[in-house]
Amino acid sequence: MERGDDAMIDPNACRWCNVPEREHYQRWKPPVGWHRFQQPIDAQRLMRMRVRRTKKEAKRARACRAAGD
Ligand SMILES: [Zn+2]
Repeated sequence: MERGDDAMIDPNACRWCNVPEREHYQRWKPPVGWHRFQQPIDAQRLMRMRVRRTKKEAKRARACRAAGD
């Protein structure tokens, strides 16, 4: 399954392939190859949360501009 840029990544999703644990079986993903779900490291979780927040803010800014026009 391909995920678009607008898809929100679960901050707790797999460390290697961004797939949430509930959807995760065995996945092939370079460079790790076949792997099982692995908890993301804390820095990765923080980064994902930051990305989510940035995307949300960008969306709101676009909506505001659209409403202003
Ligand atoms: Zn994975």
